[in-house]
Amino acid sequence: MQEILDRIVAKARGHARRGRPASYIPALSRARRDLLGVSVFTLDGRTYHAGDHDRPFTMQSISKVFCLACVLKLRGDRAVFALVDREPSGDPFYSLVLLEYENGRPRNPMINAGAILITSLLPGRTSAAKFAHYMRFLEGVLPGKKLDIDPRVYASEFETGQRNRALGCLMKHFGVLQSATEDAVDAYFRQCSVRVTCDDLARMGLFLAGRGVDPITGRRVIAEGHCKTINALMATCGLYDASGDFAHRVGLPGKSGVGGGILAIAPGKMSVAVYGPALDPKGSSVAGFEALEMLSQELELSLYL
Ligand code: GLN
Repeated sequence: MQEILDRIVAKARGHARRGRPASYIPALSRARRDLLGVSVFTLDGRTYHAGDHDRPFTMQSISKVFCLACVLKLRGDRAVFALVDREPSGDPFYSLVLLEYENGRPRNPMINAGAILITSLLPGRTSAAKFAHYMRFLEGVLPGKKLDIDPRVYASEFETGQRNRALGCLMKHFGVLQSATEDAVDAYFRQCSVRVTCDDLARMGLFLAGRGVDPITGRRVIAEGHCKTINALMATCGLYDASGDFAHRVGLPGKSGVGGGILAIAPGKMSVAVYGPALDPKGSSVAGFEALEMLSQELELSLYL
């Protein structure tokens, strides 16, 4: 396995030339393009990593998976899916178009509109209280590590995130958003700025590979049905308008973030995290996507074999 990961990192790294770090959040644009890390945690307790697996990066949209897990656990699926749909949007993550046609009801919790809505369902009135609740959940799935936010990335998104504010305002207009717009959007910005490494992220994803149970601690994190729902949403919507391509090339539930991370779950087997900051036009790590494709092929991980 170690030999496979080393070979994949060496081969996939060069693909980063085809991408660029996100620039619409200015603080992300300074990342080094040639970084590539991979980390694998298996359900039976083995861990493997290669390349820049211990470099910190911000979770960005990968946080949507964990915020959804936290809110599903708290509010149950009836309450959540009364407000948000479970269908792919086929549009970019930041799109406003469908939201107006569909009366403020987001297509799914993986696009920004859906994630801002899910964030509005976190307990607490202020963004600080919501974020604190989310962080407690996150630290529960990464025992022993204190997480923090990257203050430069947070400030940069706070200054430039007008599209996300527009999504929040539109949902507030339709009476769908469950808190003050500023609090939901700000808590969303904070959760996007949480710093992790590939090792952290792969560890954090293990409960999603284990039917909702963390195999290392033996603790049930979420109900089995919620785990199934999250994996299904990642498989159908986790890479937005590239979800079909990801299903074809990797064949696993996945979630990308514009910080350069991708989390992929092989249910019943393992959790894999990759990091490479150069992105394709749809906001996924180019080298990370390649690395996951190679890994999925080598280990025959695709669900669609
Ligand atoms: N914070 C980013 C945004 O809202 C997250 C987007 C992403 O990672 N795809 O634009």
